[in-house]
Amino acid sequence: MEYIIFIIILTTVLIASKLIFKPSMKKLKTLKDNEKLESITNNFPEDIQIAEEILDIIAKEKTGQFTRPKIEQSENTKTSLYIVVTNKILIANMKNNYARIQTIAHECIHSSQSKAFLFLNFIISNVNMLMFLIITGLTLFSVIKINILLALGLTCMLLTQFSIRIYLEIDAMKRARHLAEEYINSKTVENNALVVSKEDIAKLLESYDKLNEQGIPFMIDHYFTRSIIPILIYIVMAYMLLS
Ligand SMILES: [Zn+2]
Repeated sequence: MEYIIFIIILTTVLIASKLIFKPSMKKLKTLKDNEKLESITNNFPEDIQIAEEILDIIAKEKTGQFTRPKIEQSENTKTSLYIVVTNKILIANMKNNYARIQTIAHECIHSSQSKAFLFLNFIISNVNMLMFLIITGLTLFSVIKINILLALGLTCMLLTQFSIRIYLEIDAMKRARHLAEEYINSKTVENNALVVSKEDIAKLLESYDKLNEQGIPFMIDHYFTRSIIPILIYIVMAYMLLS
């Protein structure tokens, strides 16, 4: 009976998350292409140069210790990311992506976040994945039986992983918007003349706000769903094996 209650609770919180955050891939996709914004963004330097210059701003403003990350661009990857173990920012192929300044700022901010927190996120994600695979595998091959303590332990671990990750992401997303604005403003005046008009800058920043408006709730729901689904899989599978 307790497993049925567990499944009902998890399904309810999953549905609640969808109702609260209203994640919409469709809305995000409508924001993806915009020729006007792409042509405004083409006035800015190449991705690696943007990253270096944004890191300059971070280094100047950061009061604590900051070890500058290496930057690499990869033509084959579609998502940019910061790898804490190697302290490296990997920039995706972002041709015709008007959001590239904000995306690069986001990864640069990750590189300046608390290393202890970043490593904790890295360790707990890997431990959880391993733990899930081992527990599911052992249950599947009847080495161990479903155990409410195991299910609760897995839930605690996955929700802790969710809290750490979501803290890092929301911090990066919110600060990236302001950092992108600071960078854009620092680049748009050359020899006292505006390279990009004030209206165009406003349009670009407005689009960044819209991306965050849709992107932040989408991301919270995404990571929450990713935490709950493995627990559901484990309990449903183990319960079916038991009965
Ligand atoms: Zn991120």
